[in-house]
Amino acid sequence: MDLKSLTLEELTEECASWGEKPYRARQIYAWMHSRLAVSYDEMTDLSKAFREKLAAWPLTVLEKAEMQTSALDGTRKYLFRLSDGNMIESVLMPYHHGNSVCISSQAGCRMGCRFCASTIGGLSRNLSASEMLDQIYRIQADTGERVSNVVVMGTGEPLDNYENLLRFIRILTSGEGLCISQRNVTVSTCGLVPKIRELAEEKLAITLAISLHAPNDEIRRQIMPIANQYRIRDLLSACREYFEKTGRRITFEYSLISGVNDRPEHARELAGLIRGLPSHVNLIPVNPVRERSYQRSTRAEVDNFKNILENCGINVTIRREMGADIDGACGQLRKKFLHAEGDKQDEGILGD
Ligand code: SAH
Repeated sequence: MDLKSLTLEELTEECASWGEKPYRARQIYAWMHSRLAVSYDEMTDLSKAFREKLAAWPLTVLEKAEMQTSALDGTRKYLFRLSDGNMIESVLMPYHHGNSVCISSQAGCRMGCRFCASTIGGLSRNLSASEMLDQIYRIQADTGERVSNVVVMGTGEPLDNYENLLRFIRILTSGEGLCISQRNVTVSTCGLVPKIRELAEEKLAITLAISLHAPNDEIRRQIMPIANQYRIRDLLSACREYFEKTGRRITFEYSLISGVNDRPEHARELAGLIRGLPSHVNLIPVNPVRERSYQRSTRAEVDNFKNILENCGINVTIRREMGADIDGACGQLRKKFLHAEGDKQDEGILGD
């Protein structure tokens, strides 16, 4: 059992089953989720005997394996090692309005989007709630600055790890934890329609970002295997339901790939699709991935795409690129590390 993945209510029940008072649970919870303790020994308002009892449960703490800082904009990329040796990546983006952290929800991914580096090795496993939380905790502790925004846009498909994701959001936004506002949390999905409907029922105030990337099913199927399972019209109807239940505008992510989805007629088709749905489009020139042949659209093509959408009355922004000098694109630091380990193994360096 992983104490750090329990909500305060669950931890209180757990403590009760050990014959401990509810305030003990609040103390442990605050140490883990607000004071960001890395060991039970730090929890000095608990008796030594109780701390020794707690030590039977491993405390999830990620190990920082590597960090790169962008000289251009202060973006930091972290590579963390999990207790079983899996590696995951997280990114810190300093903005005027506060520090934003992008976290991974799985080690690897099984969605298979053709332009994405994170899916190349497939899914290794789901992350626990505590492994998602600790990416933020370790970064906040490392910088000494408060994290105010969280985006679940790193490696993995968050809705493919639904139970742990919900737990993560509940703990992250709890008053006794880091108390990050739900409005400052964004979850990005390639579009698992039944899970979007389930999430709508939770009536959270988080932003849902949909990786749309295409104006029709035919193009979407070429670049996103999930499009073989769900049609865009069903995806958009789930988005409408999400808006109706939560009052939160949808964000559509659209990575522009040269010659694939970036033509003026694609912009007009996209506008026709989402007109009337309270939403916002985020355009991102695709980050070329070494193993893939996709190229990014030119600046002029991106601007033209944006203008067409605007003229159709769609809210649209071009995502500002950050960390361009530090393996900025999704999943590339982790992949580089995995390659390096693979090469070393091939050469027998890790032989013993
Ligand atoms: N699985 C989730 C979240 C992780 S991916 C999802 O699909 O939304 C986060 C975002 O980065 C998604 O919009 C994804 O499509 C996009 N992305 C992945 N690889 C990219 C690349 N090489 N260039 C631009 N965007 C990319």
